[in-house]
Amino acid sequence: MTALLEVDALSVFYGKFRALFDVSLTIAEGEIVSIIGANGAGKSSLLKAIVGQVPRVEGEIRLSGRSMADQTTAARVAAGVALVPEGRRLFPSLTVEENLDIGWQTGRRGEIRRDDVYGYFPVLRERRNQRASQLSGGQQQMVALGRALLANPRLLLCDEISLGLAPVVIDGLYRMLPQIRDRGTAILIVEQDISRSLAVADRFYCLLEGKVNLSGRPGEFSREEVERSYFGG
Ligand code: ATP
Repeated sequence: MTALLEVDALSVFYGKFRALFDVSLTIAEGEIVSIIGANGAGKSSLLKAIVGQVPRVEGEIRLSGRSMADQTTAARVAAGVALVPEGRRLFPSLTVEENLDIGWQTGRRGEIRRDDVYGYFPVLRERRNQRASQLSGGQQQMVALGRALLANPRLLLCDEISLGLAPVVIDGLYRMLPQIRDRGTAILIVEQDISRSLAVADRFYCLLEGKVNLSGRPGEFSREEVERSYFGG
């Protein structure tokens, strides 16, 4: 069976600096895969490369067997790849609803509608006419996730969605991920919190200094093995 996403010997360059070295990974339909790694390991660079937002790559990125290497970000989103970026990147002066609609306008046609997002996050329905800047951090993250979902992704990329949020809020966001997966969307999450990341993942890859140095199912490894791979040594 062809994987939904195949990343094959991917390298990412910022000028002369190389952030990723021959990274290969796959994600099947309906999988939650997590990428763990310390600061600067290359996690965000991997996600940005998949959506076409890094200056130079080598290697291959295929969605359902079709190369995305020469496609614009807009074409990748229309093909079913959506990113929840680190820092959320909402339009602060637009309302919740206007921010959400951007996902719908730029995405793939599909069955997920605004009401589905309000079903996942009822507080957003109550606040739909408020500006994004008036929301709490957790609510803003819900909008960022909702906007990505409205693009009807086949593959949802989540970059550190827990950053700066209270544990109870993070719990709420992470509870949504299996529900989203169960509707048929594969999910790739980047997270620094090892426990949280592995708890939700079917499989994981650990990056160290731009290279994959451990991968498998969370249950296959002890906590010590994962930490050794995360920190190196
Ligand atoms: P963090 O958890 O801190 O976000 P990360 O694992 O996501 O880290 P990246 O953000 O992918 O790591 O960064 C990988 C390496 O690439 C780092 O050394 C970083 O300084 C470098 N880097 C990232 N973006 C750029 C850029 N636009 N220009 C130059 N170097 C960059």
